[in-house]
Order: sequence, then C-alpha cells, then structure tokens
Amino acid sequence: MSKHTHAFQAEVAQLLHLVTHSLYSNPDIFVRELVSNASDACDKLRFEALNNAALLEDAPNLEVRVAFDKDAKTLTITDNGIGLSEQEAIDNLGTIAKSGTRSFVEQLSGDQKKDAQLIGQFGVGFYSGFIVAEKITVESRRAGLKAEEGVRWVSGGTGDFEVEAITRAERGTRITLHLRDDKTEYLNRWKLKQIIGRYSDHISLPILMQKEEWDAEKSEYKTLDEWESVNSASALWSRAKKDITPEQYTEFYKNLSFDSEAPLTWSHNRVEGGTEYTQLLYIPAKAPADLWNRERKAGIKLYVKRVFIMDEAESLMPSYMRFVKGVIDSADLPLNVSRELLQESRDVKAIRDGNTRRVLSMLEDLSKEQDKYDAFYAEFGAVLKEGLGEDFGNRERIAKLLRFASTQGEGVSLADYKARMKEGQDAIYYITADSLAAAKNSPQLEVFKKKGIEVLLMTDRVDEWALSFVPEFDGTPLQSVAKGAVDLGKLQDEGEKKAAEQAAETFKPVLDKLKESLKDKAKDVRVTTRLVDSPACLVVEDGEYSTQLARLLKQAGQQAPDIKPILEVNAEHPLVKKLEGSAHFDDLAHILFDQALLAEGGLPEDPAAYVKRINTLLA
Ligand code: ADP
Repeated sequence: MSKHTHAFQAEVAQLLHLVTHSLYSNPDIFVRELVSNASDACDKLRFEALNNAALLEDAPNLEVRVAFDKDAKTLTITDNGIGLSEQEAIDNLGTIAKSGTRSFVEQLSGDQKKDAQLIGQFGVGFYSGFIVAEKITVESRRAGLKAEEGVRWVSGGTGDFEVEAITRAERGTRITLHLRDDKTEYLNRWKLKQIIGRYSDHISLPILMQKEEWDAEKSEYKTLDEWESVNSASALWSRAKKDITPEQYTEFYKNLSFDSEAPLTWSHNRVEGGTEYTQLLYIPAKAPADLWNRERKAGIKLYVKRVFIMDEAESLMPSYMRFVKGVIDSADLPLNVSRELLQESRDVKAIRDGNTRRVLSMLEDLSKEQDKYDAFYAEFGAVLKEGLGEDFGNRERIAKLLRFASTQGEGVSLADYKARMKEGQDAIYYITADSLAAAKNSPQLEVFKKKGIEVLLMTDRVDEWALSFVPEFDGTPLQSVAKGAVDLGKLQDEGEKKAAEQAAETFKPVLDKLKESLKDKAKDVRVTTRLVDSPACLVVEDGEYSTQLARLLKQAGQQAPDIKPILEVNAEHPLVKKLEGSAHFDDLAHILFDQALLAEGGLPEDPAAYVKRINTLLA
C-alpha cells in the first residue's frame, strides 16, 4: 500500500498555526472537542442505521473509549461510530468545508485573547488536538466498507499530512495523540475523568475509561483491563430538572453554542397533551458575529426520542428569535423527518408556537432583572422588534418587551411611558432619527420639551418599520412627532390655539409666497406651534415614510418613494419675521428649507447653491 502526502488547504494551515499559538491558555478543551466529534460520529451512524441496520455490524452498542499509554506518551480516543473512508479523511481532515469558517479565519486579529474567544465560538474541533500533540494518527474504517478499506491519516500539524490504506477490523475511528513532552499531564486518569465530567457529562452515550488499581510494590497505579463509564450518559434534557445543577445547564449550553460566556437564562420543560416534546431553551448573553447575516439559521437542535436529527432546525423557532439556542426532543415526529417535511408538519407548528410563547415568557421574567434585561436588550432588542412585523398573534406581548431611550431617561417601556403621561395627553409621542444625538436635538421636539411632555427617541434602523405595526399600545395611539400636524389636544390651552390661528391668518401672504418659491421642494408650507427656538422643520403626512427612512432605504440601494416633505415655519422666529418685505425672499426661503433638512441629518439637494445663498446674505 502506498502512502500519499497531501498539503493542508491554506486556511487549515493558518488555523492550525493559530490553534497551537492562541489556545494554550485552555488546553483542556481538546478533550471536549474530540469526544464531541466521536459522539457526533455515533449519532450519524445511529441515524444512517435507521434505514440500513446492517451498518451496525455486530457492534450495536455505540460508545467512546478514552485510554492512555504512559510509556508511549499517547492518548487515544476511540469510537465505533460512522468512521471515515480514505477520501473522507482527506476531505474532512485536510480542508475547511464549513461555510463561514473561511471568513472566520479572516476575522482573526492576532490578539490571542480575542482570537481564543472567537475560536471557541466557532469550535476548532479536530484541530484542537494539536494544542497538546506533536503528531496525530487517525485510524478509521467507515461503517459498511470492508476491513481492507480502512485508512490511516498522520500529521505533525504543520504543512501536510500523510494518508495510506490499512486493514482495520473494527468500524469507527481511533485518534491517537502523541503528546508533547510538556503536555504529559494528560496521561492521568483522574485528570481526564475530571475534564470529561466537566465538559462532556451530557454526552448521551457512554464514555468509557479503564479502571486502575494501586500497585503497592511499584508504588504506582496499574491500569486494569476493565472498562467503566465515566459520564452520566443520559441526554441532559431527558433528566429531571431537580437532578441538574446550574453548572451542568451552563456547561451544556457552552457545548451546544460554542459560546464561552454563560447564558443569561434558560428554561427546561416537558410539554404534554397534544404534541409531546421536551424543550430546553437558552438566551445567550452575547450576540454571535453573524446575527445579522440573512442566511443565519436558528440555533435549535432537533432530536426525536433522543436520536439526533438535525442542527439549525429553523422551522422550530420564528426568525425574530434566531438568537435562542437549545434542544427540542420530540416524541411524535418520525425519525426520518426531513427539513421539507418539517415545514409542513402540524406537530412542528405546535412546537414552534410553544417555543415562541416560552421565549416570550422567559423574556418577561428576565425583564424583572434590570441588569440582565439591559444586557439582553442591547444585544438582541433590534432582532426582537422584527417580531412586530412577523408575528401578529404575539404583537402585544412583544410591544411590552420593548425599551427605548426618551427625553426623560433610558430603558423606557411603553408601560412606563403611559404611567407618567401628562393629564390630558392622549398619545404616546416618539421621534425616529439616525442617531441619539440627532433625535435629542430635533426641532420637532421643541414644543414637547417646553411643555415637559416625554418623547421616545428611536434610533434603531428597524424602529420606524417595526413601529408601523404598532398603531396603539394598551388603548393609546402612538404618534410620531415628525408626522402630520401637531395636535397636542388638551395639552394646549385655548389661548395658545387662538394665537396660533391668528398668526396663521396674518402670515398667510408670506406663506403663499413661500409655497411659490419652494414649490419644487415642499409639498406644503404652513405655520406650526411645534417650534420654539428653531425657525423651521420638515414633517411628512401621517402614514408616509419619514425622510430618514426614505434616505436609509436609498442608501441601502432599495426602492423608496420620493417624498416631498411639508415645511413648517415658526412665525415667531426673527428669521421668519424677516421674510416679509425682504429683498432676498427667495434665497431666504431656500435657506430655511435646506437648514431644516440639515437639522435632521439630511443634505441639501444642491449643497453648492446653499453655500452660495448663505454667502450672498453674509456678504
Ligand atoms: P466539525 O466537527 O465542526 O465539522 P472538525 O474539524 O471537528 O469539524 O471535524 C471535521 C470533520 O471530520 C467532521 O465534520 C467529520 O466529518 C470528521 N470527523 C472528525 N472526527 C471524526 C470521528 N471521530 N469520526 C468520524 N468523522 C470524524
């Protein structure tokens, strides 16, 4: 049999270099990664064997064995799972197949701490063996292939690896780590058992190690030929809640999510009646790097009666809850369920509805813990808002979970707002803007500030779109202060209203002239009471896109209507008073309009003309 040498794909070589250099701080994780691969290989075999029982050969009991040899300084992890064919060994252990991993490698900064965290998120898997090994030998035979069709893969973890055909009677994979001289501490039963207990206890098949006996004569432990299980070997979610510690829940989460941080909260339930399933859901503390990637799938793993079926089961969770991680184990779905079937299944719909309600109640509970909820909201609030447009049935519950900055504070809920509304106030006022600073300084807020009326400041890109699905909250309408005419209703006294009407009347000739000057830019020009210090501002009609939203859409290359805003002027302002009889009426009119546009973060259509007009007046 001939040996062949293959070069690692460039990204793998790069990753290997980083693995050995950045992950030194927590070398133990290689055990977790290799045991998890072994367990995945067993899951795959169990799944394939559903349709082809012959694959189980004469060894139907799937297991992982961890052993070491002090003299040879080797550690072996053996599984009787699906195994690898020669070609699979070349492909899977020599290239990075997973989409996203390439871009992940590009994200690595060279800063060890940051990189280690990133690597942890993505899971380096097999390559983590090279943190402790100077050489790794993989011997494997794929289930269903002949004994002579085994494969040996050997590499020192630098530029290349060797592959040769071997005869291997046993199905599955044995990974032999030839430990570096400074990593021989792993040749120790107690240490390995401790790491397995910490990271891999939840693995649902037995992880076996050999027993040891004290040899008094030699004064050392002697390895016996008797194997025993060192993990609980029952799927964590199938155990009773009371038997699971918070540490175990947390460790399970870290394994599931590749997140190095503990989750904010979790919920574990057996749902009965109708559709039966077990649900274990987690809310992470940190958003993954690809939260905004449209391709991003749900973080839910689907099991059927404890058999792993698929990752990223997107049908089990609505898209606006794509940050949730967890496991669903169904008692009703068929084992051979496919993604297509999932989309149509009534059981799946019931599970999805159940999951959605559960996450909402987890968030409702979390919102009682200010710090945690703030952390959640900062990371995922904008995703949650998508639910307003996506999930009609739960709109009210979602609306209650929203938090905003306002002219009176941070983290304001709609309920908080309502509770402190002014006597006579009959709407929840808000403004949308590109940034918090722009929102706070909007001219449209002036009269609200003067009267001490709270206004919610919305600065997330999704806000205007999302809020368009929430016309009212708990019986009170939501009203943008930049849309429609200001109607402060009972908040304005009769005197003020009269004065405004009178101003509009005497100002009418000027207004007409303004309309004429600006007829290409403004849909209308009118006198307003919403301004105090500013001469003018732009508003749109109720129900129209705001000028910011139209701008955002255009920037994103999307279709957006050309909106002609309404110019509102403050008849009390000295600049506006100057209009009457001015020799520069037309210049002043355009300056008023362009300044109003600038004040809300827009740009004059013809900036050069704007500058010229200003300069004419200044000169
Ligand atoms: P990941 O497991 O995240 O896909 P790894 O680098 O850990 O990435 O492993 C790469 C691939 O090698 C796996 O996807 C799997 O196909 C294969 N592999 C690793 N370990 C085993 C094993 N014990 N048995 C069978 N295949 C394995």
